[in-house]
Amino acid sequence: MERLDITIRRKLLYDDQHIVGQPFALSGDNARAIQANTRHMALILMDNAVKNRASDMAAFAEKLIDTNLQHYVTEPLACRRGCSHCCTTYVSASLPEIFNLARAVRGKGMTHARIIAASARAKVMPQLQREVDRVICPILDNHACSEYLARPLVCRAVLSTSLATCERIFVKGLAEPFTSPPSMGAMRSFLIIMMRAALKLAGLPYRNYELTHALHVALASKDSEERWLAGEPIFADVAIDKMDQDTSPLTKLVDGLAGAVQPTI
Ligand code: SF4
Repeated sequence: MERLDITIRRKLLYDDQHIVGQPFALSGDNARAIQANTRHMALILMDNAVKNRASDMAAFAEKLIDTNLQHYVTEPLACRRGCSHCCTTYVSASLPEIFNLARAVRGKGMTHARIIAASARAKVMPQLQREVDRVICPILDNHACSEYLARPLVCRAVLSTSLATCERIFVKGLAEPFTSPPSMGAMRSFLIIMMRAALKLAGLPYRNYELTHALHVALASKDSEERWLAGEPIFADVAIDKMDQDTSPLTKLVDGLAGAVQPTI
């Protein structure tokens, strides 16, 4: 699709300044805000002069979900420091989020050692088995997330309104719906779609990968982010989340959003 005239694109970018990073409507006509934030993320990813542009984009997306959570979630939450039931379950994340977490962990020997041990267990365990044989997240330290500010989107958007339900699901292994604030699902979906559309616009893959093994690979070399951005398949051996292996139900929405933003960048 043809790019819009430079003056129109400049005007859009100027107007975006008042929208980007702000809470956006979760229903109704929110296309302008969704497109502005997607454009912003795509432009971060397309700035080839910045080595850590993937992790910078993830940091922006994580801040944006926090801003929206603060804006929309008003119900009392059961989540507390020291409660870590959900940190024993299977976690997957996009590679920019993995790089952002790896950036925070670099140089922390104890955490790195826990990542190597957890990765060795996780990579030989089928995804569904993780719901039975728990692998404790290696970032967890003394029942608290040791990299709270760099944790992935999924960790930010798992908020519980019932400790009893969490205990039944995560401790007793009962299959029942998670109880969370009603706005959380929509917010998480919007963020995932925006981030994926930005990655698509930048010509980068956007599947979610198993967290511990992907972190191990990201930490194996100092320049892993640059190598991945240059197209090296360094995560080829890491398992993609089963939900993402076939055509994800989000694909159409991601393609539609990327198609709408593409002429504007
Ligand atoms: S990254 Fe932090 S919040 Fe997410 S599962 Fe690991 S310890 Fe829990």
